Amino acid sequence: MSLAAPFEIKGWCPGALRPMPSGDGLLVRVRPWCGAVTLEQAAGLADISATLGNGCIDLTRRANLQIRGLREDHLPALHDALDRLGLLEDEAARNVMVDPLAGAEVRALALALGRALPANLPTKFGALVDGGGPLSIAGERATIALCVTSEGVALRVDGEWLGATTPDRAVAAALGDRRWLSKMTVTPVPGRRRLGRIGGVTGLAAPFGRIDASQLRALVGACATAGGSQLRLSPWRALYVDAAIDANGLIADESDPLLRIEACPGAPACSSATVDTRGDARRLAAMGIAGTIHVSGCAKGCARSAPADLVLVGREGRYGVVRHGTARDPASRTVAPDALGSLLDG
Ligand code: SF4
Repeated sequence: MSLAAPFEIKGWCPGALRPMPSGDGLLVRVRPWCGAVTLEQAAGLADISATLGNGCIDLTRRANLQIRGLREDHLPALHDALDRLGLLEDEAARNVMVDPLAGAEVRALALALGRALPANLPTKFGALVDGGGPLSIAGERATIALCVTSEGVALRVDGEWLGATTPDRAVAAALGDRRWLSKMTVTPVPGRRRLGRIGGVTGLAAPFGRIDASQLRALVGACATAGGSQLRLSPWRALYVDAAIDANGLIADESDPLLRIEACPGAPACSSATVDTRGDARRLAAMGIAGTIHVSGCAKGCARSAPADLVLVGREGRYGVVRHGTARDPASRTVAPDALGSLLDG
């Protein structure tokens, strides 16, 4: 059985070998195996970002990392550095998300699935392997999901749970061999992002999904001092470290107002933007405006497709104001970035 036939190949992802132009230079996506990096790899990525990029690293919603602000003439050095860290080889097979608390069995399954998937999968293809528990990613979108449950390994394809099988037959089932699937009596229960201490692990969210090289270095240092060994990524743009550490400039508190605000990179990172979305989003967070907020550099609305209670859409240096809608909805009025305080009046 092969997965190659049912998927049309179109578009491309900004993988490490396929940089994508952005307003702040080229960006490349780094996909660590099973969404985990050792402290040495994390320190290496911080060095790469600081010396070859602009010091900004994005945590993506597919549990990958993006190094930003690269120049074309730095790409050979980037590839050498990623190769030395073991983060370049076999890149196409790495697009499998794994829950951040996954144990050895779940990670072995993810590795087997990643290696069995065909190369050149379409941009929108995504796979996940989940072991359940408080940080279960079973509720995340994926073309193929394998979830380890008390009934075996449950298979979901295109949103539909098809049945469960044994771990040794799960990859074959995911690739199309459904002979050994048995009926499921319960479907896996999704977890959610949790921050702070979760057992021996600490969860830390990055505001707007961005961490800078110096923060990453500080995190590696704190984790090493506390006896940790790795950082795990998640689709919630939060990192999980296997040690009890402080926030180190990230967010360890679920009630932090920054977690209610989505903001795209804005200016100057994106050439479509005329407003400093993230700087303005931080000011909005400090104002204590209630509800969900989306600050978008333009009507494309990259940071959030779902409606938010308040949406600010950048245009020609001002923001259009949308209440209870999306970045594509018509604005009721406009506001200058230095007059955001007027939003408190309704
Ligand atoms: S929403 Fe517009 S400004 Fe923001 S990242 Fe997307 S294209 Fe750029």
